[in-house]
Amino acid sequence: MATLFIADLHLSEDQPVPIARLLELLRHLPSDTEALYILGDLFEAWLGDDLIPPFCQPILHAMRQLTQQGIALYLMHGNRDFLLGPVFCQLSGGELLDDPAVIDLYGTPTLLMHGDRLCSDDLDYQAMRQQLRQPEWIATFLAKPAEERIAFARQLRQRSQQESRQKPEQIMDVNPDTVATTMQQHQVRHLIHGHTHRPAQHQLDLHGEPAWRHVLPDWQSQPGALRCDPNGCRLINL
Ligand code: MN
Repeated sequence: MATLFIADLHLSEDQPVPIARLLELLRHLPSDTEALYILGDLFEAWLGDDLIPPFCQPILHAMRQLTQQGIALYLMHGNRDFLLGPVFCQLSGGELLDDPAVIDLYGTPTLLMHGDRLCSDDLDYQAMRQQLRQPEWIATFLAKPAEERIAFARQLRQRSQQESRQKPEQIMDVNPDTVATTMQQHQVRHLIHGHTHRPAQHQLDLHGEPAWRHVLPDWQSQPGALRCDPNGCRLINL
């Protein structure tokens, strides 16, 4: 039995390659796979479940086939698709997890996050994140006409691209103290997250105890996943 973790596919209609690769994965999962976790930023943007873009239909169909076969599908919000909601879950058969969430991974308590909250040195981003995640903001946004939502998403993406270019590399990565504090809060020694697009398996020293931080790859360069089974976890190319 094995569990796969993926994140940061950043799917959008103008980039058919990652869409095709996801469909390939969903339709031909390794036969020992019992669960697939998508830890955020599956989509480059999500403007509400009432505006599901046409390119999603085959993805939803493939997800539904998978979940109907008894393979568990879990989703988590990323910073780009945090408006993914109950309709998407119902259509896919997936279950939306909180960020953070602790799961029992073959007997090992494991913390799952998208990862953006760990980048605590990026103060501008954290302030914006807090604003955009407020229920009132979300309700107001989802009530806006489609054109306004599309325009806002475009504006946000331009702003984030501009800002990322100006920010030092280090600010865009996780803060080690935030990682340690978060892991301790949740009493785990294993953390799996995406967001930074810096795939790695880091071994840490958590107050004298060994701990691990598994960072998922993004799909822009080379699609990959973290594959975990009762013997451990390793990064694989897809
Ligand atoms: Mn992200």
